Amino acid sequence: MKQRLRLAILGSTGSVGVSTLDVVARHPERFKVVGLTAYRRVDVLLQQCRRFRPQIAVVRTEDQAAELRRLLSGEQLTTEVRAGPEALCELAAADEVDAVMAAIVGAAGLRPCMAAARAGKRLLLANKEALVVGGGLFMQAVAAGGATLLPIDSEHSAIFQCLPEDRTTWARRIDHIVLTASGGPFRQHDPATLDTVTPAQAVAHPNWVMGRKISVDSATMMNKALEVIEARWLFDLEPERIRVVIHPQSIVHSMVVCRDGSVLAQLGTPDMKVPIAYGLSFPDRIESGAPRLDFEQLQSLSFEPPDPRRFPGLQLAWDALRGPAGTSAVLNAANEEAVAAFLAGTIGFPAIHSVNARTLDRLQPRLGPTHTLDDLLDLDARARDEARLAMKEFAA
Ligand code: NAD
Ligand code: MG
Repeated sequence: MKQRLRLAILGSTGSVGVSTLDVVARHPERFKVVGLTAYRRVDVLLQQCRRFRPQIAVVRTEDQAAELRRLLSGEQLTTEVRAGPEALCELAAADEVDAVMAAIVGAAGLRPCMAAARAGKRLLLANKEALVVGGGLFMQAVAAGGATLLPIDSEHSAIFQCLPEDRTTWARRIDHIVLTASGGPFRQHDPATLDTVTPAQAVAHPNWVMGRKISVDSATMMNKALEVIEARWLFDLEPERIRVVIHPQSIVHSMVVCRDGSVLAQLGTPDMKVPIAYGLSFPDRIESGAPRLDFEQLQSLSFEPPDPRRFPGLQLAWDALRGPAGTSAVLNAANEEAVAAFLAGTIGFPAIHSVNARTLDRLQPRLGPTHTLDDLLDLDARARDEARLAMKEFAA
């Protein structure tokens, strides 16, 4: 019998984590869940441990760990429970793990991603912020560790699915890529009244069901800005060769425009189980459980350019990529803080853009050419301080 792929899911209680377990549960003969992790929802993690019986579970605090151990021991489950960020890195690099699904949200996922990359794992990357912050250093770790980096973000999975397996041919094939964006809930909203929108309105995405942070990012289109930066590293493309178009139906997940003018696109219903299944089974394909596209029901597919007045943050992606090393890390940190403040009701929706732009203006990164992971995380911390200062000026 073929060996099962031994999988650790970092952030298993989140939207991508739950969808991953959904796909995995369809193929018990192919996958074995060896590690699961949660940050807040220990109750959900307990249920996942009951069902998937992992060897290791990781939570945030020692108190949570003690509580989970107590609950598990009553049920004869032998899962070892650990706590803290170091335990996440150890799980990501453990000998018992073949593949890591990186589904933590934010820069908090960078260290465990780097650990998985250095340990040469098959790394399924949903956690785009980790690559936005890690940039070239992340890609060096992937190469040095001999890891297999597989994009899970639907747009990047789409591009990856349109390209041949031999990546040495990519540069000469690709003229440019086009990332599609839904435009989010405020695609047609009057930009002048965006200051009145609430967190509940911002997280109500028209096509995708996702975590709160990425949902707000979709509403500002900062999600697409992060994805432009992500694509730059995943496909080794100059910023000029990455374009964005709004496609409100979210059926075409992205496109590769080849040197000869031919356009390759990947289509499907908007369901993360498709890119997740592809990452799990690559280069094979397996049942994902996602609903099928029904061409008889499809009314139309439309495309339009993003309006810079409504989505001023999008351009920051190209600005950051042209800036000194570390600029993308500053942008990401500012945005994480601004989104958290918006969700907490401290700043209004348009202030997210103001905080991001102000932080980029005030903090010029000065990283040396041989900077380290600690240098990047130090820059991330300074950018958060700067963003919190900026926020005071834009408080609601
Ligand atoms: P989510 O908020 O639903 O889940 C996040 C997970 O990370 C949870 O399990 C949470 O416990 C854990 N977590 C949060 N903060 C943590 C921390 N500081 N340390 C350790 N663990 C922490 O988020 P999501 O929507 O599943 O998104 C996860 C990642 O995947 C994000 O980077 C997002 O941009 C990316 N992504 C998500 C989707 C989607 O459809 N949800 C699509 C594409 C990309
Ligand atoms: Mg995406």
